[in-house]
Amino acid sequence: MPKTFSPTKRLLIKGIIATCLLSVSRIGLAAPMAQIVAVRVWPSSTYTRITLESNVNLSYKRTFLSNPERIAIDIDNLNLNPTLKTISSKVLSRDPYIKSIRVLQRDPKTVRIMIELKQDVQPNIFTLAPVAEFKDRLVIDLYPSKPNSADDDPLLALLEEYKKGDLNKKQAEIKTPTNKKKNAPIIVMLDPGHGGEDPGAIGYKKTREKDIVLQIARRTYNLLKKEPQIKVYMTRNEDIFIPLKVRVAKARSLHADLFISIHADAFASRAVKGSSVFSLSTRGASSSAASYLAQTQNEADQIGGVSRSGDKYLDNTILDLVQKTTLSNGVLLGTAILNRMKGVNKLHKPSIEKAGFAVLKAPDIPSVLVETAFISNIGEEQKLKTVSFQNQVSKAIVDGIKDYLKKRKN
Ligand SMILES: [Zn+2]
Repeated sequence: MPKTFSPTKRLLIKGIIATCLLSVSRIGLAAPMAQIVAVRVWPSSTYTRITLESNVNLSYKRTFLSNPERIAIDIDNLNLNPTLKTISSKVLSRDPYIKSIRVLQRDPKTVRIMIELKQDVQPNIFTLAPVAEFKDRLVIDLYPSKPNSADDDPLLALLEEYKKGDLNKKQAEIKTPTNKKKNAPIIVMLDPGHGGEDPGAIGYKKTREKDIVLQIARRTYNLLKKEPQIKVYMTRNEDIFIPLKVRVAKARSLHADLFISIHADAFASRAVKGSSVFSLSTRGASSSAASYLAQTQNEADQIGGVSRSGDKYLDNTILDLVQKTTLSNGVLLGTAILNRMKGVNKLHKPSIEKAGFAVLKAPDIPSVLVETAFISNIGEEQKLKTVSFQNQVSKAIVDGIKDYLKKRKN
């Protein structure tokens, strides 16, 4: 028989615990002061992010002040140190939201961060637990209160839905037009991996994956723009962090026909090199390296940082919808690009690989992930930085798309 626990007994125990806690704090077991170890500011046209990295989780209070419009963030248990003071110099004049940031020691235990604004913003403030090389982080995202009406990029709206946890609901409603006109252009979504707070892999000479893949995506974009039958978009064209699901959502909202994610691989051994192309697998990865890669790439959201509300729906819904044709067209597209990559670089694997990348999980868009080369290999890192290699990779992607369009199944 289960033992019953009398409510009075429970109250008594609670009382004892409370008294113990009280006496502990009276003795003065004060928490050690927090230390800021890094500050970063990531301005973009969609939103600006401020990141404060610290040795412990920070607690804070936010206040709005007007005349001029400001946000004050008071952080407890913190001393103003030289690292935190550098924040003022990190604000760029082109920042659309922030005019200036000042920091001051408000009282012996509280630091105030005063953000003066250029326009009305909606702040989203949250903390992130340590992940990869990052320690605890306090993230302050500033979104415009009123979206720019001339802006036809759905990114801001999608980020809003993502924050509220509504993204999956809205995404389920998107239907690909079944009666697409015969001569309608093919819509290609290019997805440069990582960005903003998430640098991606970092080479021996400190080359960042996020910068290289943005350059390659821009070159690919310019080539595709010249094709009369193709309309091309990018998930990001700035150094901005975008959650994986939002990238997929943007492609779906714009009714993309193809999704191409561009990355530069990394591996523990600097000897490993070569290009590879991945398509989505619903059954598991084709090799342990592929599964390792998918796992590290899927970590991008924790590294780049998303507030917990965005993950309200642990999504498998989208994956459940994945259709066979989409998957087989993904393999066709990937194989076509891989065949073209042969002429540009040594291949890491002779055929297309499969893995469960979150960014490839659009139910109705053939999607591939191109690992252009290994940024962790010193020779390939050097190559990735050159205009000629970047142009060759872009051309291989474009030619691969064209080859695919001749072969695809509808
Ligand atoms: Zn990557």
